[in-house]
Amino acid sequence: MANYQKLTPPADGHPITIAGDRLHVPHDPIIPFIEGDGSGRDIWRASRRVFDGAVKKVYGGRRRVVWFEVFAGEKAVAKYGENVWLPEDTLTAIKEFIVAIKGPLTTPIGGGIRSLNVTLRQVLELYACVRPVRWFQGVPSPVKHPEKLNVIIVRENTEDVYAGIEWKAGTPEAAKIIEFIGKELGKKIRPDSGIGIKPISKTGTYRIVRKAIRWAIEKNLSSVTLVHKGNIMKFTEGAFREWGYECAAAEFADKTVTEDELWSKYNGKAPAGKIIIKDRIADSMFQQVLLRPDEYQVLCTPNLNGDYLSDACAAQVGGLGMAPGANISDFFAVFEATHGTAPKYADQDVINPGSLILSGAMMFDYLGWTEVAEAIHRGIAGAIAAKRVTYDLHRQMEGATKLKTSEFAEEIIRHM
Ligand code: NAP
Repeated sequence: MANYQKLTPPADGHPITIAGDRLHVPHDPIIPFIEGDGSGRDIWRASRRVFDGAVKKVYGGRRRVVWFEVFAGEKAVAKYGENVWLPEDTLTAIKEFIVAIKGPLTTPIGGGIRSLNVTLRQVLELYACVRPVRWFQGVPSPVKHPEKLNVIIVRENTEDVYAGIEWKAGTPEAAKIIEFIGKELGKKIRPDSGIGIKPISKTGTYRIVRKAIRWAIEKNLSSVTLVHKGNIMKFTEGAFREWGYECAAAEFADKTVTEDELWSKYNGKAPAGKIIIKDRIADSMFQQVLLRPDEYQVLCTPNLNGDYLSDACAAQVGGLGMAPGANISDFFAVFEATHGTAPKYADQDVINPGSLILSGAMMFDYLGWTEVAEAIHRGIAGAIAAKRVTYDLHRQMEGATKLKTSEFAEEIIRHM
């Protein structure tokens, strides 16, 4: 067992392990959780009730989750001391137990402390940000047919302009880069420019595209679309497109066809069991999700495009406050609420726990406990259809009943 400074893993329960290229999940997996700051406390309490309720409903006593609290954010500072926002213990626990779930965390401002979420992603090499976007009947949406959008966005998490390689205008570093590019490479940059570097590698692209195609195979989805701006940024986004097709051909030749082949060889009709690999320029993709949403299943994107697209898609189904997400490496996975700590609602039992609950459903799906994920989806769909919802949905729905966070959790369990 790993060494911990201030934590003791539960004595009952067993760790999830890696067996070959799969996870081995015991009947009583130990799952570390980070409660989250602010209204994270309300959300976690409600979510845990829903998770335990769903597991019990589906498996009786045959399976159960053994929760293991680990710390980050304000609670970590209280337990581990000033400025310890992300203790080593927490990273050790996620590495030992592989799958974890977290509520929203306060991002400390100033003091040179990096975002906890970014640190978690980098330390655990969680290179894929996965966001499923679907509509639940009854949720107010700005479009006529929100039900037509049902996509999984698989976004690269470590590269692109988000790599953090940048220099402020007027600094000696920026001046040095500008001079180097001018003298050595003959390209002119205004001297008062800030500089950011946009690296996109073949390694990073292959592994995210591989993840997206595997996702499509496992979930029986019919297409993977590479979303890029390669017409302008040829050697980064354009390369993402090229390497994406290359990866599909090299590693999934028996499972995929390109959209071009679909027309040149198969008369526009995909052969049974084959996934269509297509690509769209990012700006066109934003039109497509509005105009022809049902033609897309998995969207695989570099970091920045994925950031924009996930929020735009979530807004389209009316579910910004309910959008689930996960950051995943080859095996490690951290499931999380995608909104912040909404501090003004902390400890009032009013906030919508939907984002964390749906992230939990993703987690059960990841563990292979798909029946639990389905029960949670049924529960949420039922509560919303009955118009018994938290304040955020209540203010947009006519004739709805406003519930507290805890009551909404009960309502979800009732509808499972
Ligand atoms: P926020 O916490 O997401 O809240 C902004 C507003 O969004 C809330 O006032 C509320 O709107 C609505 N909202 C968010 N979550 C909701 C929920 N579950 N149910 C209903 N409404 C919800 O964003 P913020 O105020 O910009 O950030 C607050 C703190 O969270 C900051 O410290 C930030 O760094 C951190 N943060 C953490 C994460 C993370 O850990 N993943 C992500 C983003 C931000 P109304 O007021 O209209 O009701």
